[in-house]
Amino acid sequence: RGTTPEPPDVRPRLTVLSGPSGVGKSTVVAHMRKEHPEVWLSVSATTRKPRPGEKHGVHYFFVSDEEMDKLIANGELLEWAEFAGNRYGTPRAAVLEHLDSGVPVLLEIDLQGARQVRETMPEGRLLFLAPPSWDELVRRLTGRGTEPPEVIARRLDAAKIELAAEPEFDMTLVNTSVEDVARELLALMDVV
Ligand code: 5GP
Repeated sequence: RGTTPEPPDVRPRLTVLSGPSGVGKSTVVAHMRKEHPEVWLSVSATTRKPRPGEKHGVHYFFVSDEEMDKLIANGELLEWAEFAGNRYGTPRAAVLEHLDSGVPVLLEIDLQGARQVRETMPEGRLLFLAPPSWDELVRRLTGRGTEPPEVIARRLDAAKIELAAEPEFDMTLVNTSVEDVARELLALMDVV
């Protein structure tokens, strides 16, 4: 048991970025972090298989069903949800450690997860990333080219439900330009 560091004067607020699959959450976040690596992005655990180029521990912790069962049973996840046939969850400890040491934390999670965070961490700020239009969302989801048609169809079904949840959020950011949204996000996180 060493010396406990002084807690920061102001504990940063947790920021949650949610929105339909394919709306561009990861692109916005990647752009923002390139210029502001001091924002800490939580790395989720998922049972989904890695896409080409995705790295364990960087994009996700890729876990088996059994490992996910254990994380849930042991209460190690701040929230978790099933999305398009896979489970995704936010490891709790790392989020709390970063906030406690004054580091702004960003979660990029689906709507069901955002709802859980609203219950468990009501001080968090929930941001909804909206597509400029439905047609644009369909175009982006179809154009990714990494998923088979039935997976895209499932994601579009999910997106319809997710779009309707916009009023539950503290604020909506419309993804007209990656640069603009990244800038708004940083300002909201008090990073600029
Ligand atoms: P993808 O498979 O495209 O990486 O992610 C699918 C969806 O799961 C996205 O909407 C993404 O934001 C969401 N997601 C990623 N990690 C988590 C998580 O830890 N918890 C929840 N609830 N959703 C997540």
